[in-house]
Amino acid sequence: MSKNIDWSNLGFGYIETDKRFVSNYKDGAWDEGALIDDPMVTMSECACVLQYAQTCFEGLKAYTTEDGRIVCFRPDLNAQRMADTCKRLEMPVFPEDRFVQAVVDTVKANADYVPPFGSGATLYIRPYMFGSNAVIGVKPADEYQFRVFTTPVGPYFKGGAKPIVIRVSDFDRAAPHGTGHIKAGLNYAMSLHAIVDAHDKGYAENMYLDAATRTKVEETGGANFIFITKDGKLVTPKSDSILPSITRRSLMVVAEKYLGMTVEHREVYFDEVKDFAECGLCGTAAVISPVGRIDDHGKEICFPSGMDDMGPVTKKLYDTLTGIQMGKIEAPEGWIKEIK
Ligand SMILES: *Cc1c(COP(=O)(O)O)cnc(C)c1O
Repeated sequence: MSKNIDWSNLGFGYIETDKRFVSNYKDGAWDEGALIDDPMVTMSECACVLQYAQTCFEGLKAYTTEDGRIVCFRPDLNAQRMADTCKRLEMPVFPEDRFVQAVVDTVKANADYVPPFGSGATLYIRPYMFGSNAVIGVKPADEYQFRVFTTPVGPYFKGGAKPIVIRVSDFDRAAPHGTGHIKAGLNYAMSLHAIVDAHDKGYAENMYLDAATRTKVEETGGANFIFITKDGKLVTPKSDSILPSITRRSLMVVAEKYLGMTVEHREVYFDEVKDFAECGLCGTAAVISPVGRIDDHGKEICFPSGMDDMGPVTKKLYDTLTGIQMGKIEAPEGWIKEIK
């Protein structure tokens, strides 16, 4: 029985669901974990996460396909990425197969909150981990919690995806050899000022350039860039300080294998951005948000695709990937994880 929720008017906010998965790490081992009812977390006032921000997270979605199955998209890649993140933050890895199982179990336990097919809404899944014991001298925690909660979220774009306006940021997101490539909470804490400032000035997002030279495109606070050249190639920036988006990696496969496009994953200089035909931001939340204009300190780059609609190639990529996710187009082996 689906919950009595007005799916089409859901926003992107937290709504408590029935169950969450919790596993504790202590004395060098993870316990077996359990689905629990209590949505509150209780820990020491001196917990490592509270003092030194030792925390990381993942994000993915569960949704109902046209034929009524509940599925999620490539959770093994979220498991792998969280493992990479944990190693960089001196946190214990939650085994990848157990990560996927915890996602499946949590969604199953909250199946009544998975929005119906066609509503545009989804069940957002948030796996995360934090150092939970008291640490005052600077060092990693000895005890950790791995948790997974779910929350239903509305369609990212109400009434279709309208191109957004973004700005080139004066702030940097990630240093060379820093933590830009991992999904650490700290990357978001320091981006909050930049995004609030961007919104205040009327921009939807920040385009961050590489911190060392400020000549190359990196990404926004929470999405990777894709560009379409005038001759129909997909170009996407490559850098050690970009978070490896699963959506972007999937779009690269879709472009090459489904649409027969040439794909270039390489350094992208900001100077060449004005020559692209289309631009988009990709991530789990929106899949692709089209970018219509980039403001570089008063100098505007307006893409030929304009401010009314997604560019035609971006649209094809979007329709193909969402078609694969929704079960309308056959998925590559292993991309769709059936939950129920
Ligand atoms: C999560 C995230 C993305 C998007 O990754 P997906 O796996 O596609 O959701 C992009 N950039 C940053 C900085 C992120 O944290």
